[in-house]
Amino acid sequence: MIVAGLDPGSAHLALAVLSVQEGLPPEKLCTQTLEVGHKELLAKPKVRKSRGGNTVTQTERRVVSWDDVLPVCVRVAELLSYYSVQLTAVEVVEHGHIMQGVSAAVAGGILTAIAQSQLVAGALLMTLSASLGAQNVRTVSHRSWTARLGIGTTTGRRGTVAEVVEAAIPSLGRTNEHVRDACGCALWLVTPSKEEAEKAKRAAAGCLCPGRHRKGCALYGARKA
Ligand SMILES: [Zn+2]
Repeated sequence: MIVAGLDPGSAHLALAVLSVQEGLPPEKLCTQTLEVGHKELLAKPKVRKSRGGNTVTQTERRVVSWDDVLPVCVRVAELLSYYSVQLTAVEVVEHGHIMQGVSAAVAGGILTAIAQSQLVAGALLMTLSASLGAQNVRTVSHRSWTARLGIGTTTGRRGTVAEVVEAAIPSLGRTNEHVRDACGCALWLVTPSKEEAEKAKRAAAGCLCPGRHRKGCALYGARKA
């Protein structure tokens, strides 16, 4: 199966196309980081203090308009069709979080970036639903795909995005964090959840038990996965 993951951001849109075959590690067919939006000069430069106490002068801002977004999404749809992608996942923001002590200016910047990336995500969903069929386009939050792949922020044996994604796709090679996130979304599509894995295991063993395995079931007494 050919799957694609897409990570829409406020300045970049990353894409990963993977070929996934039973018994083989997923293979990279294509990864790309496309620029989103354009820069505009500010009428008046903005001066602010950085965390380190330095003075930062901002003379331009990134604008992400519909006119910027649509051509990039059309390009993505063309690439996905070129690689005969069957199923795709687009990362969306489901939950916002601003840390305590963040200045209003920085919080505003975060909100703007989220709004811009959601515009890109929406445009992708529209464009790809038209080209691939809506049933072949999924949305996933960062939290959901990292959890599915066993990536956590907690300590323990769970790895980071880079570690897990690079280990899962040996052909990936050097890349950036946007592409790694796109790969994560693509891997999410082909990684069964715990419930799905359990269902598949039961089906393969011919188990029909409603709950716990009963005597006579091939899985009776087997350790829980
Ligand atoms: Zn059973």
